[in-house]
Amino acid sequence: MLENNHDCLPKNHQISVEKVAVANLPTAVGEFKIAGYRSLISDEEFVVLFKGEMKAEVPTLVRIHSQCLTGDVFDSIKCDCGPQLQKAMRLIETEGRGAIVYQQQEGRGIGIINKIRAYALQDEGADTVEANEKLGFEVDARNYQQCAEILFDLGLCKVRVMSNNPDKIEALEKAGLQIAERVPIEVESQEPAAHYLKTKKEKMGHLINF
Ligand SMILES: [Zn+2]
Repeated sequence: MLENNHDCLPKNHQISVEKVAVANLPTAVGEFKIAGYRSLISDEEFVVLFKGEMKAEVPTLVRIHSQCLTGDVFDSIKCDCGPQLQKAMRLIETEGRGAIVYQQQEGRGIGIINKIRAYALQDEGADTVEANEKLGFEVDARNYQQCAEILFDLGLCKVRVMSNNPDKIEALEKAGLQIAERVPIEVESQEPAAHYLKTKKEKMGHLINF
């Protein structure tokens, strides 16, 4: 049984994830630790990349990164996920402390196959929001509750969230984390992503400057 630390978890909240294993992960960016978490209420799995000592009283850099196979692995320039993940890793490396919860909710929760269907609609002119609506999905089907629980489990209370997404920040706050700061995570984007980001800003309220 691995040791858990739930000091900061609000009363009446229960942790619905379990830490299964932790290992070292050397990367091109630096030395990290990687942890695997399993949901106790679904078959969802989570991966956390973290570094440094997790202390409740220290406002700590965190990112909730939603899996994006096309951006994270294939360097797609239709979105900014890959560079955002890289930047979050670099910021944590520089700071010497921080955590990235990698949430396997591909395509804002609709799955990779449906995301490719949405991309096909986008090839015909729909934007990211219209494409999801055409397929009968919510614009954003993600849930961040268990990501917050993982941060509690790591021992964190105060977080500096690397995100441009106000919904994500609000969800973490609702889950009981203290938001010390929002750290903007803007990256240079090439043309197809610029259009996508414009849609995220105009239709989804993301905090992005152009
Ligand atoms: Zn992406």
